[in-house]
Amino acid sequence: TQPVHIIGAGLAGSEAAWQVARAGIRVVLHEMRPDRMTQAHKTDGLAELVCSNSFRSDDAANNAVGLLHAEMRKLGSLVMRAADVNQVPAGGALAVDRDGFSAAVTKALAEHPLIEIRREEIGGLPPEDWGNVIIATGPLTSAPLAEAIRALTDESALAFFDAIAPIVHRDSIDMSVAWFQSRYDKAGPGGSGADYLNCPMTREQYDAFVDALIEGEKVDFKDWERDTPYFDGCLPIEVMAERGRETLRHGPMKPVGLTNPHNPLVKPYAIVQLRQDNKLGTLFNMVGFQTKLNYGAQQRVFRTIPGLENAEFARLGGLHRNTFLNSPKLLDPQLRLRAAPRLRFAGQMTGCEGYVESAGIGLVAGLCAAADALGQALATPPPTTALGALLGHITGGHIETIDAGPRSFQPMNINFGLFPPLATAPTHGPDGKKLRGPEKSVAKKQALSARALADLDGWIGDSLKLPAAA
Ligand code: FAD
Repeated sequence: TQPVHIIGAGLAGSEAAWQVARAGIRVVLHEMRPDRMTQAHKTDGLAELVCSNSFRSDDAANNAVGLLHAEMRKLGSLVMRAADVNQVPAGGALAVDRDGFSAAVTKALAEHPLIEIRREEIGGLPPEDWGNVIIATGPLTSAPLAEAIRALTDESALAFFDAIAPIVHRDSIDMSVAWFQSRYDKAGPGGSGADYLNCPMTREQYDAFVDALIEGEKVDFKDWERDTPYFDGCLPIEVMAERGRETLRHGPMKPVGLTNPHNPLVKPYAIVQLRQDNKLGTLFNMVGFQTKLNYGAQQRVFRTIPGLENAEFARLGGLHRNTFLNSPKLLDPQLRLRAAPRLRFAGQMTGCEGYVESAGIGLVAGLCAAADALGQALATPPPTTALGALLGHITGGHIETIDAGPRSFQPMNINFGLFPPLATAPTHGPDGKKLRGPEKSVAKKQALSARALADLDGWIGDSLKLPAAA
């Protein structure tokens, strides 16, 4: 049989390669690093973790990502095996030594007799004669390939920027100027009606602030990045300011529903709001203040906000490029591009979010590609499993009506909200006692997890007929 070509050896591509090779099929794995690096990767290792070293909760009974770990282990996942042997202490979470983890994945793939690793950038659509291809080039897919996919799919929003707002240390905010209050004293779930920190501005301060935003030095984009669109809901603050002097005052800086207790008779002209960012209440993020101002300009301009003159920033704002398909519209339930079914997608490009989810979708893509290579029909994992629920989110497999507009589909972490509901919700515990509110929610998660693991076992027994050649 022809080899399966896999482009990108990150979390998804590495797992996909492993699954294809386990089924006894040759793989050619194309990875552009180290010849060509991304903005986030720092090494030439396969499955490099670009940011945190955590795979999040490992609690399969109570947590959806823990359940996903368990399902992937049942399917012989290389990513989970490498994570397990490189675990570092992290309470109930599965955190890994990132170098050891990447080295273990690299070694297993490099030593596999059916896998050939080619260090090269694929700068356009793969040639027709490659046949069965998996594209797993991730959120930082190199520009020429992203452009080629965009042209093929005719989608305007394949690559865009995710914007991050700055975070401020609470104890550096001047409380003789700022105050706690939610707009119209509204209390959200678990809130008190005083969940936001507010910083008031006069008209003069607001005008000067808008000028400073427009004039402030921005992070320089490369040529190809200049045409990358923003998501409307996530526009950088200075881009909003450029749209009109009043835009911010009618947007995130709206001065309504709030009374300044330090000066109740003077109505602020504009207000900057900060929202609690961590459980401890020590960090607050600046609401709507995602930005591409450079770090120096951010500190200078944001410290002109009354109350933030001495602000210490735990994190400054920034933008990172993201690339994902409008999958519910473009991909079939087996992750193939409807317009060109020889191309299958995996990982973050398909619209899942997170290391584990990307590897999980890589695993499914690998199984599907292996089945295709062997001429087998493979039913995808049931929607009641974590893998199937994630796949359902991406391809719309078990959702009857979807609004597949490019803006409505958003990358998502696995969560129990993606699972079809239980036929009957648990009302009594194993001891026969009636369950109360929070106990009910725990029992529901546990029942969803138990159903998932049983259904996955059923699927492995009934549907998965691939030879395991590891
Ligand atoms: P990647 O792991 O990025 O793998 C893609 C691979 O394809 C890379 O090795 C790349 O070099 C290669 N490649 C790209 N283009 C080409 C080409 N044309 N030819 C050949 N090879 C190519 N998730 C978390 O769970 N926790 C985090 O802390 C986290 N932090 C993130 C921080 C940043 C800056 C970004 C961008 C994402 C982060 N994510 C995080 C989200 C996401 O889960 C990870 O990016 C994850 O690695 C995605 O897996 P992937 O396999 O789809 O892509």
